[in-house]
Amino acid sequence: MTEIVTSLIDGVAVGGTDGTLLPALNPTTEELLCQLREADADEVGQAADAARAAFAGWAGLATDRRNDVLYAIHDTLLVHADELATLEARTTGLTLTSVRGHVARAAASFRSFAEIASGLAGETYSQNADYLTYVTREPKGVAALIAPWNAPLALASMRVATCIAFGNTCVLKPSEYTPQSVCRMVELMHEAGLPKGVVNVINGRGHITGEALIAHKQIDMVGFTGGSETGRAIMATAARNLTPTILELGGKSAAIIAGDADIERAIDGALLGIYSSNGQQCLGGSRILVHRSIADQFIARFVERTKAIRIGDPLAATTEMGPILFERHRDRILSYIDIATAEGAELLTGGGRPAGLERGFFVEPIAVLAKSNATRVCQEEIFGPFATILIFDEIDEAITIANASDFGLVAYVWTTSLATAMRCSRTIRAGTIWINTPMMRELRAPFGGYKASGIGRDGATSSADFFTELKTTSIPVGDIAMARMGLA
Ligand code: NAD
Repeated sequence: MTEIVTSLIDGVAVGGTDGTLLPALNPTTEELLCQLREADADEVGQAADAARAAFAGWAGLATDRRNDVLYAIHDTLLVHADELATLEARTTGLTLTSVRGHVARAAASFRSFAEIASGLAGETYSQNADYLTYVTREPKGVAALIAPWNAPLALASMRVATCIAFGNTCVLKPSEYTPQSVCRMVELMHEAGLPKGVVNVINGRGHITGEALIAHKQIDMVGFTGGSETGRAIMATAARNLTPTILELGGKSAAIIAGDADIERAIDGALLGIYSSNGQQCLGGSRILVHRSIADQFIARFVERTKAIRIGDPLAATTEMGPILFERHRDRILSYIDIATAEGAELLTGGGRPAGLERGFFVEPIAVLAKSNATRVCQEEIFGPFATILIFDEIDEAITIANASDFGLVAYVWTTSLATAMRCSRTIRAGTIWINTPMMRELRAPFGGYKASGIGRDGATSSADFFTELKTTSIPVGDIAMARMGLA
């Protein structure tokens, strides 16, 4: 019998096997992995009520006591690292090698945000001689946290860690495509000593379970990671209750390869930027902008290396790329080959089914040489192993192209010139700029997007700002003169 994944409310798996069951497939074998029991509005309400009931107790704990739990969660996740990584690789098709890093990141998030919460301090104002005014931070309440499928553990854990480290409780909805690893992580969090009701999980589709959660009156804030269109819908629903939202959305990021770049390192970085995580990452460097002086050399080598990427079973140690998560998504990715060629782009490589892989949603990584940044293939997020290469002549032209996008999540710059690096860092409108490095996520620093890539930032200060309320208290330091009303 296939596993049925249910909601976890107040620390208990609820719901049995009634109601709508949704299949989740193994993208490598196309076999049924588990079934998901979709939570309806009533069940969503139970989860929100459980989070509300747990709030006063969790928020009222001394930070050090909460942190005891967060450190225990860190340790427990690491003890179960192999189990979680195998589950994650099987569910998502991400390589075991990469998801081992995600599990370590998930554990690190709980430790890091415990440390950040421990260091939080308030403000005092004594400029007015008659008063002492001080500012304290308080947990904000109950969060709705909605996660995507592309890196379930790494992304869900970060949001949960930031939320509970500052004393809040939450209802988490993983993606309907990849519920298992996140549900197992939350079970392990309870085994590590997390009080019941602090983190509740509900499962189901966005327009049913997700929307009921966002609209629920008990929800004080919404943390969402996913596509920009979904972000718009979520914000509209949240607006009805004036619920604040933090949105981490899509991207179409530029990777600029300057004429003076170390070409071999730039190729290494560009390949990782677009093809790691099976190409399904918000921060993918999907528009590769190459200086004309090195374009032929770069493209020839990039294509040669792309063709040599080892595609196969994500659980095998030598695999560099696994399958696309689901069939409809794979077909959508492939449809961009026709879109691109109709727009005048040249298909350089990819798009076929890799030899020897008869089952699974596999695709050979794709690269096209585009004619213009204005074309759809350069403007729309494909969210797959699909590199679009453009050639530029001047660095200012590359910066203009990088900025000519609805998105603004990250940008990569490969150059040996400090002046070029600084110019790009200053003028590219994106939340994170990586110079001569493929990806580097400093958890303490703000991360988030400009424009359609998001609203708000994760990070030490930014997360504290989102997940706490600021309260100002003023107290006279002595007797103050006060007008007296109503005296005869
Ligand atoms: P998605 O927007 O389709 O779904 C994300 C989550 O939202 C899922 O749990 C889904 O069930 C839920 N959802 C969908 N409609 C909803 C609604 N109306 N109300 C409430 N919840 C709803 O995204 P996806 O396909 O799972 O993930 C891929 C997208 O996520 C890409 O666009 C990618 O760039 C983006 N992403 C962004 C970041 C970032 O940090 N900026 C990180 C990872 C992924």
